[in-house]
Parts: sequence; C-alpha cells; structure tokens
Amino acid sequence: MPEAVVALGANLGDPVRALSEAAEELHAVPGITVKALSRFYTTSPVDSSGPDYVNAVALVETSLTPMELLKACQRIENEHGRIRPAGVVNAPRTLDLDVISYEGVEQDDPVLTLPHPRMHERLFVLVPISDVCPSYVLSGGETVTEAVARVRKTHPDQQIRLLRQESVA
Ligand code: ADP
Ligand code: MG
Repeated sequence: MPEAVVALGANLGDPVRALSEAAEELHAVPGITVKALSRFYTTSPVDSSGPDYVNAVALVETSLTPMELLKACQRIENEHGRIRPAGVVNAPRTLDLDVISYEGVEQDDPVLTLPHPRMHERLFVLVPISDVCPSYVLSGGETVTEAVARVRKTHPDQQIRLLRQESVA
C-alpha cells in the first residue's frame, strides 16, 4: 500500500492536544493507517507570526488517492476550528495538516503540490521525519539526515527543540 508523510503543526489553543487528537483522527479514517508518529518539537514561527509552534509528522499507509488524503486532512483541520483569515498568508492556526509526500508522486498542482514544495528547507518537517524514517530520501536524492545538516548550516535562524513529553504511566 502507498506510504505518505503528513506534517502536523499548531500554534494556537492547546497544540499538543490538537496534534495528538489529529493523529488519532487520521488513523480512524477508513483507508488510513498511522504507522508511526514522530516525537513533538517546538519551533519559532517560520514565515509566520504568533506563539511558537508544536510540530510532528505521521508516517501513514493509505489506500486513498493523494487528493483524498488531502481532503481527509482538511476535514480534520476544519473540525479543529481552523479559521483561514481572508488574505492572510501563514496566519496562526489551531491545526495545520500538510501532505509532505505520497509514495513517489511528483506533481505541480497548486491544490496539491507533491512533494510539499517547502519541505526541503524546513527543519520542523525534516527533523521529525528523521525520527520516524531515518532512511527517508528526498526527491532530489538527499537523505533526510543530509538535508537536516544542510538546513542547520544554511538557516541557522531555524530553532527546533524537542518538546519534553510527559511519560505515560
Ligand atoms: P499552508 O501553506 O500554510 O499550509 P494552508 O494549510 O491554508 O496553508 O494551505 C493552503 C493551500 O495549500 C490549500 O488550499 C491546499 O490546497 C494547498 N496545498 C498545495 N500543496 C499542498 C500540500 N502538499 N499539502 C497541503 N496543502 C497543500
Ligand atoms: Mg496547510
């Protein structure tokens, strides 16, 4: 079955709760199985504003098409009260689910660009991917580990910290 990577992010409300719930809700969608959920990280907003983000990625196996997977993500975002203020790009959000990659699919459609066009430059996507899939290879041929090292050098402003997680009793 095709494998895909979904990035989860939030910086309003209770981000940790929103991400945990979103991972469960993704898993509950018929045709989506969450194989692995990365650890949670906090990052300062990149090209955005407001409080720090909490970010993670989910590795999923899915029988849905890429577009069906995007629609499922958007439905979950909407159920979490995502508001898209008109004309504001990268506004703070209660939940953002982006399809980062879907098997080997490459497409330029603005409704769904695959792989996600900015993933190569975002530590908050690359670092969690290296958690769940250290052997992940980006579309340009770089491994995720190489990409993390490159972005740390070229974008030293991007701070990412592991979120201290309560141990589950
Ligand atoms: P952001 O780009 O900050 O995630 P939104 O979540 O509001 O902002 O997404 C804006 C648009 O990006 C959506 O309408 C969606 O159709 C489009 N889009 C294009 N490629 C992707 C992708 N790979 N994953 C998610 N959305 C995408
Ligand atoms: Mg999005």
